[in-house]
Amino acid sequence: MSGARVLIVEDEPQLRYALRRYLEENGYAVRLSEDGASGLTEFGAFKPDVVLLDLMLPDISGVEVCRQIRRDHETPIVVLSAMGDERTKVQALDEGADDYLTKPFGMDELMARIRVALRHSGSLRAGETAIEMGGLRIDVAKRTVAIDGAEVHLTPTEYTLLKYLATNAGKVLTHPMILRSVWGAEYTDTAVLRTAMNQLRAKLHDDPAAPRFILTEPRIGYRFTVPDES
Ligand code: CA
Repeated sequence: MSGARVLIVEDEPQLRYALRRYLEENGYAVRLSEDGASGLTEFGAFKPDVVLLDLMLPDISGVEVCRQIRRDHETPIVVLSAMGDERTKVQALDEGADDYLTKPFGMDELMARIRVALRHSGSLRAGETAIEMGGLRIDVAKRTVAIDGAEVHLTPTEYTLLKYLATNAGKVLTHPMILRSVWGAEYTDTAVLRTAMNQLRAKLHDDPAAPRFILTEPRIGYRFTVPDES
């Protein structure tokens, strides 16, 4: 998506300017903010296609910035987190951030994450009744699932789980988010999720060690893969 607008909210000047230079060289339009409050103001003015959001900011936290953006907007947010900042990173993902990069990260990795964040390939548009990607087809009207044309029989829970993952393809989904969405607000036991995930993976013939569809994010949750369009 050449020409896409990227808002960078990052208080470290060197990283901020390096990111801008690199993204501009790759055809993106970039705006910079050095703290959370100006980041939110810039978000409203610039209407970015994707936000790169540092979590440790001098005024309000990146988690709070994420929460405020998510009140009214679905704009993809990729958080930039420091090593050892697991808890804050998970909080940001729980508040609706799409993905994270742990500093220091490579520019190739950054570009790949931005492309995924911009793609939204799993979302259903108005009037569409099927999700199709990478050989998987979910017919949401008939509630049927097929891989490479062969039907896969799922329990209602497995189906709901798969549909939730696939409609959020590319996005890191935390254990609490998945439990809330698939089982309901009162569920907090990740063992229930782990069991259903094992069964789902087995039925999809998806090997966790070499996944085709569902990636494990250790200690955080899961992510449905976005197939390469190239
Ligand atoms: Ca910082």
